[in-house]
Amino acid sequence: MSVKTALITGAAQGIGKAIAVNLAQKGFQLALADLPQQADKAQSVIKEIQAARPKTKAPIFLPVDVSDRQSVFDAVDKAADHFGSFDVMVNNAGIAMVAKVLECTPEELDRIMKINVGGVLYGTQAATKKFVQLNRGGDYTPSTVKTAKRELTGKIINCCSIVGNGAFAALPLYSASKFAVKGLTQASAKELAPLGITVNAYAPGIVLTPMWDLIDSKLAEITGLPTGENLKRAIDGIALKRGETPEDVAGLVGFLASEGSDYITGQNIAVDGGISYN
Ligand code: NAD
Repeated sequence: MSVKTALITGAAQGIGKAIAVNLAQKGFQLALADLPQQADKAQSVIKEIQAARPKTKAPIFLPVDVSDRQSVFDAVDKAADHFGSFDVMVNNAGIAMVAKVLECTPEELDRIMKINVGGVLYGTQAATKKFVQLNRGGDYTPSTVKTAKRELTGKIINCCSIVGNGAFAALPLYSASKFAVKGLTQASAKELAPLGITVNAYAPGIVLTPMWDLIDSKLAEITGLPTGENLKRAIDGIALKRGETPEDVAGLVGFLASEGSDYITGQNIAVDGGISYN
């Protein structure tokens, strides 16, 4: 059996980095995709992974802007060409935006939708094209679906959020973008099942990454509470009473990328310490 290959977007830091480390431990060959300015950080992740498993082919860094469709397609092509297989696409990259609903601008709407929703859409399209090429020996056409058998050919894993299940105040556009990711995940799962592709999403809660630092400082401006106080109050609402680590999220994504999840599709699974059923 060939070694499996995964591409992770937004892999230079935070949750994406933890996913890379988790999948490396599971033996995946890895393409770490992120913005060009994140190259140095991505290279450190690569060094860390390689030091832990020197005998496996080293991960590669692929500069990508997930809001640019062609750049995502190019990254998937490069990953598959380099490693000779392509099995899992993790559409993890995303940005947050803290604002009051009455103050959101058209430019902000455009930007967050292009990255958070466009990135998932383009990642889904590029991965599907590659899964079909590698497993069915040709380009995708509508007749590919008609003639397809449903043996598993690939897995797509999208990053949603607890605010894609129920909105928080002060994150209206971010929340809208994650509701959209949930819808896209469900629709893709139905459409791509005949091609043997599963599509699922993970919905983290309050994860202590650079993104959360940004949210917390902006929330402080909006709520008037001192920096850190919003986090303290949010953690009070979590059943497990602690903030989430990127590794907590990576544990779920590692499962979704592995064989144990073969019969799961169309799901948006919360990994949030129990905040979202309160
Ligand atoms: P982060 O800001 O620490 O990391 C995000 C990564 O995505 C960065 O490396 C960044 O360079 C990359 N990125 C941003 N825009 C990109 C683009 N256009 N093209 C390519 N890469 C791009 O954030 P994180 O907390 O690790 O978040 C990762 C994912 O988890 C995001 O989709 C986020 O919405 C989601 N999420 C985070 C939290 C949280 O509390 N941190 C909670 C729920 C969901």
